[in-house]
Amino acid sequence: MILKVIGSGSKGNAYLLENEQEALLIECGVNIMDIKKAVNFNISKISGCLITHEHGDHAKSICEVLGSGINTYATFGTFTNSKAGLSLNSSRQKVIPQKGEFQVGNFKVMSFPTIHDVAEPCGFLIYHKDCGVTLFLTDTVYSNFTFSGLNNIIIEANYDEEIINEKLGDKKFLRDRIYNSHMSLDTCMEFLEANDLSQVNNIVLIHLSDSNSHELNFAKKVSAITGKTVSVADNGMTINFNKTPF
Ligand SMILES: [Zn+2]
Ligand SMILES: [Zn+2]
Repeated sequence: MILKVIGSGSKGNAYLLENEQEALLIECGVNIMDIKKAVNFNISKISGCLITHEHGDHAKSICEVLGSGINTYATFGTFTNSKAGLSLNSSRQKVIPQKGEFQVGNFKVMSFPTIHDVAEPCGFLIYHKDCGVTLFLTDTVYSNFTFSGLNNIIIEANYDEEIINEKLGDKKFLRDRIYNSHMSLDTCMEFLEANDLSQVNNIVLIHLSDSNSHELNFAKKVSAITGKTVSVADNGMTINFNKTPF
């Protein structure tokens, strides 16, 4: 199993968990063509698309994804506030609970609520025998939950409080919007420290804000406190997500 980063950050997010036979698309906040290219135009390989919330950088291509015949999984609040709305005729629209379990191909998924300025946002805990348990957590101020038995972690580290204070100190509205909807590097590290990381192979930092973060420092800091392999998601990057990497 590999993780393919199609897009990460406020310009657009889309990630693919992929093995030889199947793929799970997480978010569709990039152009549909980039999604198609990522699977070499073998769309039928995609078992489904998970969407955390309706913001364009996560759900921009929702209509095109549905139109391509891909089953799409999102909460009622996310569907109704997205470009697609909630068409009761579309059998491809799979309404999921904000907290619950469902199956997508061979992926077992658990959704759980996150804290963001939208209707009904959620994060995902994804299990597949190849990659074990993978956590996907983004666009949330913090997490109300801790998890055990994780093998891979994909998590938002949006901004550095020091940098943001320096840059946006006089732009209170902008600064507060980020504070009240995204995860800081410090909160991300606190979360990681609160979880059992003994089985974790990879920590992938996503959704870094271009101007309020510093990639290398972020990876270094997280690696220093966790002792784990830490990557900063970059468009086009692939990472070995096998439960047993060797
Ligand atoms: Zn976002
Ligand atoms: Zn958002």
